[in-house]
Amino acid sequence: MRFSELGLRAAILDAVDALGYVEPTPIQSQAIPLILEGRDIVGSAQTGTGKTAAFSLPILSRLGPHGPGPRCLVLEPTRELAQQTYDNFLKFGKYTQMRVGLIYGGVGYGPQREQLARGVDVVVATPGRLLDHLAQGTLKLDRAKFVVLDEADRMLDMGFLPDVRRILIKCPKVRQTLMFSATIPPALETLCAWALHEPVKVEVGARRSPAETIKHVLYPVALAQKQDLLLSLLEKVQWESVILFCRTKRSADEVVNVLKRAKHKAAVIHSDRSQKERQQALEGFKSGYYEVLVATDVAARGLDIADVSHVINYEVPEHAEDYVHRIGRTGRAQASGDAFTLMTAGDAPFVAAIERFINRKVDRVKLDGFPYQYTALFDEQRLGSLADRKTRGVRLGKGYFYGPARKR
Ligand code: ADP
Ligand code: MG
Repeated sequence: MRFSELGLRAAILDAVDALGYVEPTPIQSQAIPLILEGRDIVGSAQTGTGKTAAFSLPILSRLGPHGPGPRCLVLEPTRELAQQTYDNFLKFGKYTQMRVGLIYGGVGYGPQREQLARGVDVVVATPGRLLDHLAQGTLKLDRAKFVVLDEADRMLDMGFLPDVRRILIKCPKVRQTLMFSATIPPALETLCAWALHEPVKVEVGARRSPAETIKHVLYPVALAQKQDLLLSLLEKVQWESVILFCRTKRSADEVVNVLKRAKHKAAVIHSDRSQKERQQALEGFKSGYYEVLVATDVAARGLDIADVSHVINYEVPEHAEDYVHRIGRTGRAQASGDAFTLMTAGDAPFVAAIERFINRKVDRVKLDGFPYQYTALFDEQRLGSLADRKTRGVRLGKGYFYGPARKR
């Protein structure tokens, strides 16, 4: 399948060409013709499969010349994602006359008001700030012919569904609505039934499986040795750039300080950092200045960061779904990558939940030459349960680990 066979306008195909895309991804080749036909879509495909182009290319293709608007609204859960999608619209629309606006919170209203007053064809926005503009009358949605709910599962997680409904009520009833999400939990099915008109479901790949190219492994370790193991891993494994995930803002701050003390160039993003700090961290990481980006799940969700060689889960995610999202940061667009998860005894139930969710066992490995202290995890295989261990005594799980840390 080639982009030229999908029915997109020449100006859009030229932009795709200029970006060096050779062929459409599966979600793109399925969704683009349907969107061009005017159908509502529920698109689900894992992170990094090119969902942004799947909706922005056909919309740009159908918007025609610049006109009163906005005629297209794209809702995103986070500022970073809004920025990213906005950048995509600019790139894909560079041979069109489309004007694109970007609306998110945490920054002044002035420039956004001016941008809206000048007239935009497409608005990419986070829900909260968009509602502010609607309330202030600086924006109207009565010409919105296309509405995109992107990363809808994350909007649900972040509690944005009531805001999304409020916004949808302000849009014309006759419109084309597209929803994209990595997963479609029941609450989103309900939203679909209400907001979409006879949607076509486009589902690509098993929703739950992480990208095939990713090699992922668990490193069991005693809690007290976690920081040491992390630093040793960074020393011994060949890597170019790492995203490191923490569960909480506090531990993210702690880890970034540990890394900085060990002379790693590291930055952190989470929701307590200002928009400016987050942007600076993200841009520094993308440009290669920072080699490690420490992030919480919410802050990192969906960020399009190319060429991450490794994902490290410094803390096992609490929700099994987040594991798939996290390791989706690597192995994007067919590049291979590695994902490491540090696991302590308390994480065992969460790891079990992840393994059930992705329907496979993740290999446990040991870092060669690391002075491991004993942890109950080392007995896991030999001594199935705690009760067993009491009767059989403490053993250091000989032969339990296999394979050295993979070197690249
Ligand atoms: P998703 O929203 O599904 O997580 P994105 O839309 O952010 O994925 O795209 C992920 C990455 O893949 C981006 O860097 C994008 O430029 C790239 N990409 C998208 N479509 C193609 C394609 N057809 N060929 C090559 N790269 C692509
Ligand atoms: Mg996306």
